Amino acid sequence: MVLALVQRTALPLPLPVCMAAEQPEQPEQPEQPPQSAPTPPPAGPAELDPVRQTKARRYARQRQVLSLVNLGVSAALIAVLLFSGLSFSLRDALSALGGWEPLVGWQPLLVGAYALVLLVAATILGLPLAYYSGFVLPHHYGLSTQPLGDWVTDLLKEVAISLPFELAAVEFVYALLAATPNTWWLWTGIAVLFFTVLLTNLAPVLLLPLFYKLQPLPEGDVRSRALSLAAKARTRVRGIYSMNMSSRTTAANAMVMGLGNTRRIIVGDTLLDRYTPDEIEVVVAHELGHQVHHDIPKLVAVGSLTTLGGLYLVNLMLHAVVARVPQYTGLADPATLPLLAAAVGVFGCIVLPLQNGFSRWVERQADQYALEATRNPSAFISAMTRLANQNLAELEPSPLVEFLLYNHPPVGKRITHARRFAAAPGLRS
Ligand SMILES: [Zn+2]
Repeated sequence: MVLALVQRTALPLPLPVCMAAEQPEQPEQPEQPPQSAPTPPPAGPAELDPVRQTKARRYARQRQVLSLVNLGVSAALIAVLLFSGLSFSLRDALSALGGWEPLVGWQPLLVGAYALVLLVAATILGLPLAYYSGFVLPHHYGLSTQPLGDWVTDLLKEVAISLPFELAAVEFVYALLAATPNTWWLWTGIAVLFFTVLLTNLAPVLLLPLFYKLQPLPEGDVRSRALSLAAKARTRVRGIYSMNMSSRTTAANAMVMGLGNTRRIIVGDTLLDRYTPDEIEVVVAHELGHQVHHDIPKLVAVGSLTTLGGLYLVNLMLHAVVARVPQYTGLADPATLPLLAAAVGVFGCIVLPLQNGFSRWVERQADQYALEATRNPSAFISAMTRLANQNLAELEPSPLVEFLLYNHPPVGKRITHARRFAAAPGLRS
C-alpha cells in the first residue's frame, strides 16, 4: 500500500522492542500443529535443526522478494499518479468539493476526498500481496495458526483504526501547508513526536487488547524469577504479562511496550509453554535490559529526529517541484499528495538501514545485559537456538541483507556473542 509503505518506513511508530529476529508481526513456528493445552517444558538444551535452517533460508528469500515486489508496486503506483497526469485529473474530477475554504488555500473536503480515493485504491490494490505475504506464506511454512476469517477480521480492524488517523494526518499537514508554507515541516515533526509518545503510551492498553488477550503472569517460578531480576536491576516493573500469541502464530516472542505508567514486559504464550524456566529467565532479562537502558524513549527520540530531518528535505523538494510545474495550484494542492508520498517513501528507504543499525546496536546491549544479569550463557544459547528452530530464523543471513533489513543481530551472531561471554575469564557457570 502506497501510504502504508510510506508510514512504515518514515514515521517512528510505537513499535515494541522485542526479543526475536526481524519481522515481529509475522514471526514463525515449529513443525507440530498448534496446541491449545500447554506442552511440558523441554528437557535439555536445544539443538539446531538443519532441516529447519534450510526452510528458514527459503522462507527468508521469499519474504525478501515479496518486500521488493511491494516496493516496486508502490513505486509504480506513485509513478503513474505523478507522470500520467492522473493526479491532476483526480483533483479536477473532485474539484466540486473545493468550495469550502476555512483557511486560504486549504480545502478540507477536496483534500479529504482526494486522500480517501488514494488510500482506498492503494488498500485494494495492495490486497493480493497482503493476502499472500500475511496469510498464504506463513501458513505454507506452518507459522500461522489463524483461520482466514480471523485474518480478515484483523485486517478490517487495522484499516478501521488507521484510515481515520491517516485522513486526519493528511488534513493536518495540508492545513499547515496552506497556513505556514515555510515551517509546516517543523510543526508536522513536533506533531509526529507528540502522537508517537501518546500512541506508545496507549498502545499496550488500548491498541494491543484489540488483537490479543493480555494476562498478568500467574504466580510461580517464572514470575518470581522475573521479579527478582527486576529487583536486582533496581528497575520497577509495572507489569509482566503473558499474551496469547498462539491465537495467531506458532512463533515465540517477548517484548517491552509502553511509556511511563504503561510500560510493561510481555511474554508470548508460545514462549512460556515451550521454553525451560532458565531460557525464559534469559528472555525476560533481555527485555528488562531494554527498560534499564531506556530503549523505547531512545528509539522515539532517534525516530523523531530522523523524521524532522526527512520532513525538512521533503519541504525543499516540494517547494522546488511546485515552483516548476504549473499544474500545481500551490503547496496545499491535494495533487501534491503522491509527490509527498514519493519523497517520504524514498527518504524512508534511505534511512531504514541506519535505523536498523541503531536497533541492532540497542538489541546487542540488551543481550549483553541479559548475559550479565543471569550469568547463564548456555541458557541464552539454548533459547536462541530454540527461537531459530521455532521461528524459522536464518542463522547467518548475507551481510547485505543484515545491513538493510535486520533490526536484530542475526541469531548466529547473538549465539557467538554469548559464547564469547562464556569464554571470558571470571564467569562462574
Ligand atoms: Zn530486544
